[in-house]
Amino acid sequence: MSSLSHNRTLSERDRDAVLHPYTNPIRHQETGPLVISRGEGVRVFDDSGKDYIEGLAGLWCTALGWGEERLVAAASEQMRRLPFYHLFGHKAHDPAIELCERLLALAPVPMSKVFLTGSGSEANDTALKLIRYRANALGQPQKKKVIARDRAYHGVTLATSSLTGLAVNHRSFDLPDPAVLRAACPHHYRNARPGESEEDFSTRLAAELEALILAEGPDTVAAFFAEPVMGAGGVIVPPAGYFAKIQAVLDKYDVLLVADEVICGFGRTGKMFGTETFGLRPDIITVAKGLSSGYLPISAVLLSEKMVAPIVAEAGRIGTLGHGFTYGGHPVSAAVAVETLKIYAERDILAHVGRVGPRLQDGLRGFANHPLVGEVRGVGLIGAVELVADKATKAAFDPARGVGAALVARAQQHGLILRAMGDAVAFAPPLVISEDEIAEMLTRFARALADVTAEVIKI
Ligand code: PMP
Repeated sequence: MSSLSHNRTLSERDRDAVLHPYTNPIRHQETGPLVISRGEGVRVFDDSGKDYIEGLAGLWCTALGWGEERLVAAASEQMRRLPFYHLFGHKAHDPAIELCERLLALAPVPMSKVFLTGSGSEANDTALKLIRYRANALGQPQKKKVIARDRAYHGVTLATSSLTGLAVNHRSFDLPDPAVLRAACPHHYRNARPGESEEDFSTRLAAELEALILAEGPDTVAAFFAEPVMGAGGVIVPPAGYFAKIQAVLDKYDVLLVADEVICGFGRTGKMFGTETFGLRPDIITVAKGLSSGYLPISAVLLSEKMVAPIVAEAGRIGTLGHGFTYGGHPVSAAVAVETLKIYAERDILAHVGRVGPRLQDGLRGFANHPLVGEVRGVGLIGAVELVADKATKAAFDPARGVGAALVARAQQHGLILRAMGDAVAFAPPLVISEDEIAEMLTRFARALADVTAEVIKI
């Protein structure tokens, strides 16, 4: 086998062997990969040694940045002592117990139990299944429809892809499942009517949600899934009053709220959870990414007593809770997650985000007057810059022009890794980023924006 790799570049080997997620496979044969070989702080380095500021913390996850030795030590210690054990059939291990206790202590609303999983998708898939299980336990077998929003991102399993409200996750997969109901995206800049205030827009969306629930029949609707700030859909910060008004509708019709905190959890929005920043009262919270700072895969489902009591009764009656993943709550991942949570507390990550977040938000808003920038939005250490063809009319660029992708490509040349969602470019750097590093990130972004502006004006 080793002769296969002799005298061949990583790029060639990648093109021959790897099918990449979220990548155009035909274009990839021409461009090849950017091979990242190491990381340090908020930077990663490619195989030629060039450095990049990771403006998206990898995939919104590497909150403590690269090279955090305490996480390495926690993993290796656990790897030596107990590299694998599970939680099936009355078994337990100390990292999982400690992690669940810590999550319950951190939870922004009272939560009773934690179910450990391995990824954001698994956590949301588990939430979906437990909602169904609960409905059956309560003798409400018809109350199982779930609502998710346009542009939501809740995962890519066969079930969670349907919660996700992005066409690319549905096309050619024969999705979404029609049993998932779709609510509007709370994107004030794009979806509000001319002159409609944020509060009025929120009022309208809550009224639309109520109309949807009534049209379907409240006794058939089980739950509403929401990211506090929508991430992969383009960093959509909820408009004023949104969650209070939505929550009132959910309460009125006994519809559960699932807060998908996979991106927002652990300080991203300035508070420990987006639930606190925006005043949600969820019955279920899902977390992943920042839970282990992305160092190892792990996620969790936090369940309120409203969920736990009927589930326990039903599983007790059936004889077992027939759900669980081999690697759910993996001891090495759990040990790293416990250490991550300790570091957040010891270093007061919330105070740090409170100090540097405004530097990012003010810096991004500094681009608001740029002729190609339609909107700048964000909170804490998450934000986006949306490019438009016409600032006055908000007309978007023809998607075929790939202006957002071009900006990201230029940023990469200037040593900054970002991600485009259409023509919105997202920022979510490691939470440990310093003010100087934010300034450097914004300087690199400004260079990329200047390049793209010159190219767009030329055409
Ligand atoms: N929920 C949200 C809000 C996410 O951003 C993501 C991943 N970007 C997921 C769920 C799915 O997580 P995973 O990729 O770990 O399955």
